[in-house]
Amino acid sequence: MPANTGSFGSCCEALKDSMTSEEFEPLVAVDDTGVLYMSVGLLEAGSDQADTVDHPIFFCPFCGKGLQTEAEVEAKAGAAPSA
Ligand SMILES: [Zn+2]
Repeated sequence: MPANTGSFGSCCEALKDSMTSEEFEPLVAVDDTGVLYMSVGLLEAGSDQADTVDHPIFFCPFCGKGLQTEAEVEAKAGAAPSA
């Protein structure tokens, strides 16, 4: 399944690779609302299922390009029902 990169990953190969790698589970990903997130930690829910803690990315961690603004993230996240 091709990774959903939305409009992201065009600024540099490092970001694109980190979003589309098939060799590992990407920690940088676009969610259903089109917001780019990075996993910053693991939440152990007490079962065998571990959830990731995600945080929106505003600047590319590799090249520093601005990717989305806080207002854009809020607009996108606010448009979708929170899970
Ligand atoms: Zn970049």
